[in-house]
Amino acid sequence: MEDCIFCKIVKGKIPSTKVYEDENVYAFKDINPAAPIHVLVIPKEHTTNILDTKSETIAKIFEAINKIAKKEGFAKEGFRVINNCGENAGQTVMHMHFHIIAGKKLGEGIV
Ligand code: 5GP
Ligand code: ZN
Repeated sequence: MEDCIFCKIVKGKIPSTKVYEDENVYAFKDINPAAPIHVLVIPKEHTTNILDTKSETIAKIFEAINKIAKKEGFAKEGFRVINNCGENAGQTVMHMHFHIIAGKKLGEGIV
């Protein structure tokens, strides 16, 4: 989709630090990390949020998250996966993405 920053990142029009890539999924470091490890995992095909995304695509993203956690070495110590969906959740980029947060002891709260 034109004017979508994450579509531009997938196409290489905006630079990013790649962490993982396969046919359907791209993962890269968040530009403003909330923890020592902060990776964004996105489908290459544009969707807005989990409400307009096929369950097959969500499954592929979680398969990628599994691989990334093992490859990057934080699977054992633990991590958090976050998806912000819509305005009240504070979604700022309207290309569906999952945050992986890791690399430190995370707060116990969810909100
Ligand atoms: P949201 O608040 O929509 O769930 O998260 C969007 C995330 O995208 C934020 O954590 C923000 O730092 C990140 N982000 C926004 N623009 C860019 C960019 O151009 N490059 C990278 N690597 N991350 C970005
Ligand atoms: Zn997009």
